[in-house]
Amino acid sequence: MYDALVGLQDSVSILKGIGPKSVRLLAKLDVHTIEDLLHMFPKRFEDRTQTSPLAACTDGEAAYVTGIAESFSERRVRHDLTLTKLIFHDDAGDEGEAVWFRRVLSPAQQARIIGMRITLFGKVKRGYGKVALQNPDINVLATVGGTDTPDLGLVPVYGLTDGLSQANLREWAEAALTTYAPTLTDLLPGTLRAKHQLPHLMTAIKDMHIPSSERHHETARRRFAFEELLILHGVLQSRRILLADKAAPVVNIDRPTFDAFVKALPFELTSGQVDVIDDVLKSLRQSSGMVRLIQGDVGCGKTVVAAVGLLAVLSCGLQGVFLAPTELLARQQLVVLRNLLEPLGFRVEFLSGSVPEKHRRPLLDMLAAGEPMVLVATHAVLEPNVKLPRLALSIIDEQHRFGVGQRNALMTKPNDGISHMLLMSATPIPRTLTQVTVGDVDVSTITTLPGGRKPIRTHVRGQEQRAKVYGGVRKVITDGGQAYVVCPAIAPDGEESLESVVGLFADLSRGWLSQCRLGMVHGQLREEERSQVMDAFRKGDIDVLLATTVIEVGVDVPRANAIVIEAADQFGLAQLHQLRGRVGRGDQQSFCVLVTSGNPTEIGLQRLSVMASTTDGFVIAQEDLRLRGPGDVIGLRQSGVPQLRVTDLAKDADLSAAAAEDAREVLKDPNHVDNCSVYQRIEAYINSVDVGAVA
Ligand code: ADP
Ligand code: MG
Repeated sequence: MYDALVGLQDSVSILKGIGPKSVRLLAKLDVHTIEDLLHMFPKRFEDRTQTSPLAACTDGEAAYVTGIAESFSERRVRHDLTLTKLIFHDDAGDEGEAVWFRRVLSPAQQARIIGMRITLFGKVKRGYGKVALQNPDINVLATVGGTDTPDLGLVPVYGLTDGLSQANLREWAEAALTTYAPTLTDLLPGTLRAKHQLPHLMTAIKDMHIPSSERHHETARRRFAFEELLILHGVLQSRRILLADKAAPVVNIDRPTFDAFVKALPFELTSGQVDVIDDVLKSLRQSSGMVRLIQGDVGCGKTVVAAVGLLAVLSCGLQGVFLAPTELLARQQLVVLRNLLEPLGFRVEFLSGSVPEKHRRPLLDMLAAGEPMVLVATHAVLEPNVKLPRLALSIIDEQHRFGVGQRNALMTKPNDGISHMLLMSATPIPRTLTQVTVGDVDVSTITTLPGGRKPIRTHVRGQEQRAKVYGGVRKVITDGGQAYVVCPAIAPDGEESLESVVGLFADLSRGWLSQCRLGMVHGQLREEERSQVMDAFRKGDIDVLLATTVIEVGVDVPRANAIVIEAADQFGLAQLHQLRGRVGRGDQQSFCVLVTSGNPTEIGLQRLSVMASTTDGFVIAQEDLRLRGPGDVIGLRQSGVPQLRVTDLAKDADLSAAAAEDAREVLKDPNHVDNCSVYQRIEAYINSVDVGAVA
């Protein structure tokens, strides 16, 4: 990143003490170069700013103690558990114990420590008139019997992987800081640092690893948060800036076409759909180029809104694209859009990586010739050889699955000018976060659900209740319904787990569901097989569909009215909400059963109780935010924008607003000496996403 400087891109193996084995372990943490190491920030700090005598130690709290090591003993308490105990005297002469629930240090190492001055850092346990430190970190001070003072300060705690110790990482990070920090140039210009009172990179990076106080660490964290936000906003705004002076086609739908479409629908549009259709048609009449996010809970009927936009484009003899993240979803939407648009005399075609050359060639030729049609597609449409000279509207379904670069690629397909763009999202993003996930877009929200739907009944069940759960599924089938069963895994190695699609399929077809017609879909099936199974399920030839999360987004089979999710606590809230949204689409009462895994975590169980208490996607999104903490937000991870690693959107809202403004200035004058490093970073990011996306 700071490529002007030799050294930062050197392999970590250049540091003393990092051999081939450590290189491999560090690679697991995504640390390859010196720069990676410097940017692997501690996840927290231990407060070793002062030592305390044993007498002053509080039960249950961490303490930092100095003293003289007296004697070691080991005791086997279970066949697999050895206790190591160290007796020591603190500087005041009081006796204390250090206890480890494992074997620590070889006999030779232990012997060398006896009589030495040591420091211990660990949790205090008081009882039976003794003070013990549990599993403490032990360090030997240099000389025997001396009065060396221990290192005082905040001690970094890094995220580790098996085989690496905190001591390793502390030593290596410190070595890297000593040698390389003084050579760092800051990509933030002095003007911006001064404006926001942020430290230079050189200082900031030291204070991220070994800060002299909490305050220093926080100041450094803000420096990096600002950098993250500046690049993020730059990436998000670059589209607007690049496209600012380009026009989109003016698309005007005529009344009779629109009326014919609405009349042919098998249902009445909800008031929410009508409002958003209004927004869309209005924007399409402007040449300024619409970029609009349509938010609406699962099942609220976004597809038909998209269809109206496409209809408008077709009625003007132009082209439209409907882009979906998976082939499964694309094929399903193809059927829906064909049903809606073909009866009115319009053309809807399909493109994905699996379309054979003999169909693909003529299709691409027609598109390149500018023939009016709607193309339903996977990311295959993004490739440069797909020419869409008359593209007027691009619709991206489940937009959080795509990146900024991919959106830009589609938007700039027309010969001259740009296409309008609709981004559709079923994962509601709290308003404060749209800015940092999709950028500066117009937002329309569909707040109504089609009438006549009964709220889905959700239950949480333990594994021991499976017989009853699948008894319920049998009843649903007998009553004429269909069911999904979702598992987290396809098939674990060598084990027929009931939490895997393959394992559960075998089990259910022999047991509880032996009378039902079962099918399965997962990522290891060939595309062809997958769509055959989906078709059979859609037609009602399969009663129960076992699946991985491949069915997570968009799949729409109104007759399916029950979903069982195995090991449900292992899924995220957004995912559970999406999965549950597969049912409750018809007029039957629908059910969702969340089966817990063998050993659910506390937070996993909390997610399930949120699911059981509400079906409102916006409430669920808020809860998701609360449970995860704001740094780790739905959509952001997948949305193809730079990750926020140190930013805390709750704390840094002011920084985010400031960074958005500064990013605008940078993009206005990218060649200014103050701006060029930041601009290069923004461009590098966009290019990296583009390449990854189309490859
Ligand atoms: P999503 O917003 O999750 O993409 P879909 O567009 O797939 O939802 O619509 C979900 C289901 O609701 C579809 O079966 C669709 O035909 C149906 N639907 C859409 N709008 C209405 C409506 N106004 N009244 C009744 N059913 C509707
Ligand atoms: Mg949808």
